[in-house]
Amino acid sequence: MRLDKLLAHTGFGTRKEVKALLKKGIVTVNGETEKDGKRQVDEENDRIQVLGEQVQYQEFVYFMLNKPQGVISATTDDFHETVIDLLEPQDQLQEPFPVGRLDIDTEGLLLLTNDGALAHDLLSPKKHVDKLYEAEIIGLVTEEDQKAFQHGIQLDDGYLCKPANLTIIKTETEKKRSTVQVTIREGKFHQVKRMFEAVDKKVVYLKRTTMGPLKLDQHLKLGQYRPLTEEEIETLK
Ligand code: URA
Repeated sequence: MRLDKLLAHTGFGTRKEVKALLKKGIVTVNGETEKDGKRQVDEENDRIQVLGEQVQYQEFVYFMLNKPQGVISATTDDFHETVIDLLEPQDQLQEPFPVGRLDIDTEGLLLLTNDGALAHDLLSPKKHVDKLYEAEIIGLVTEEDQKAFQHGIQLDDGYLCKPANLTIIKTETEKKRSTVQVTIREGKFHQVKRMFEAVDKKVVYLKRTTMGPLKLDQHLKLGQYRPLTEEEIETLK
């Protein structure tokens, strides 16, 4: 890749700022001063330094976001803030994208990466990646509902869902409200909401807390994110 691109991707500023940096003669490639941003470098093997500091290039980035409501799971949008807008400019440089979608009013765990192969794997129906949601429901969720979820709910378009695990956390008889946890393996459009509609109930709050081995970091407030640890990245592969 070009040296100026690599420096821009590793946080040394815009292409213009990087150009100024190179002009100053403070960038070296394998110990030799390099002023030409067009110079092709091998990010794996060349030793690139700025003022003697080693430049760390990572091909892939992985972020765990606690998605708030009101933000859409896309890279661009004409009307709404996107999950990418929540990232610092520096973290947008390598063009991460959301792995799958959460509805605009759904909160919780969203993985953002530029690792297309990993994203593809996690979303593949063949991989059966479990996703755990917490939900607030209008209606009293019953044992029959649990059995129906276990059996496989038929959605409004006729699609028969794979068995899902439904745990009742709390029911408030007078208010006719329930708090539940649901584990699904698929990712059909509005799936959890439509599954509850199929048993005549309504989801009024939805939050994803796990995706496969990845658990939402309880320290992340809504809208906050952090890079995955090496161990977390390994568990996803
Ligand atoms: N199911 C839904 O209905 N919405 C989501 O955002 C995720 C799963």
